Amino acid sequence: MLRIALQKSGRLSEASLKLIKECGISFTNGTGKLKTIADNFPAEFLFLRDDDIPRYVADGVADIGIVGENVVVEDRSEVVITKALGFSKCRLSIAIPRSEMYEGIESLQGKHIATSYPNILRDFLNKNGIDATIHEISGSVEIAPSIGLADAVCDIVSTGSTLMSNGLKEVEVIFRSQAVLIQTPVLNEEKQAILQKLLFRIEAVQNARNNKYILLNAPKEAIPAIIDILPGMKSPTVLPLAMEGWYSLHSVIQEDQFWEIIEQLKAAGAEGILVVPIEKMIY
Ligand code: ATP
Ligand code: ZN
Repeated sequence: MLRIALQKSGRLSEASLKLIKECGISFTNGTGKLKTIADNFPAEFLFLRDDDIPRYVADGVADIGIVGENVVVEDRSEVVITKALGFSKCRLSIAIPRSEMYEGIESLQGKHIATSYPNILRDFLNKNGIDATIHEISGSVEIAPSIGLADAVCDIVSTGSTLMSNGLKEVEVIFRSQAVLIQTPVLNEEKQAILQKLLFRIEAVQNARNNKYILLNAPKEAIPAIIDILPGMKSPTVLPLAMEGWYSLHSVIQEDQFWEIIEQLKAAGAEGILVVPIEKMIY
């Protein structure tokens, strides 16, 4: 059985559970408990504070875990980052009071910076030859300048609204983060096999999220031009319609190419275009 550590409650929990569910793994016991066993997959889930996850995985108490890359890098635990998961995206940034002048990194020379990420910040400052004092605090970092504790902060930002409401402006992005799947350095063969099974499912879910299934109708003469536009997994399916000379084409398109492709298809003579989500996609 593979032991999987997830955040108990916070910004990673919902998306982590959604991913597990989309991988077809379910458990009847809620997430209120410390641990629960999956009904239909050889896995046991541990629900923890996110900060504890890298250490549990490094120590082998959990075999794998889902956590923010920021926490993994800050923590310096001996874990392997197996896969980026694409959710809980945020950045670690330095911010200063809005009224202060900023003329590049040199402006941080000699300043006092409050943060919960001393290791990542120290690396950044050293790399840029900045001599500043780091004040490690565990929460509410953004209020440090207004209470006179620091000149600047280094904190997690997603939209910037928290900084804004505290009279701060973002001046340097020092790290970009997203949720990652981490694993313990040594997994036995049996657990490795279960992990491979899980990774295969995660990839199918991720591929499906990035792709859409497209169906459209077109007259026979438009088909070659439409086939050129549609990338597809191999080549599009072409089926005759009841109406003489008309065909239905089916294919897969990428989410980010979506609007451009739709316009080209219409121009090439496609009609009745349907675009539907894909649940799983295996190459
Ligand atoms: P815990 O109670 O488990 O210790 P926490 O309060 O330390 O939780 P959360 O705020 O739930 O942590 O954030 C967990 C992770 O989500 C962060 O480490 C970061 O990777 C990511 N994250 C933080 N803030 C945001 C945000 N505003 N938008 C998206 N992702 C974020
Ligand atoms: Zn935490």
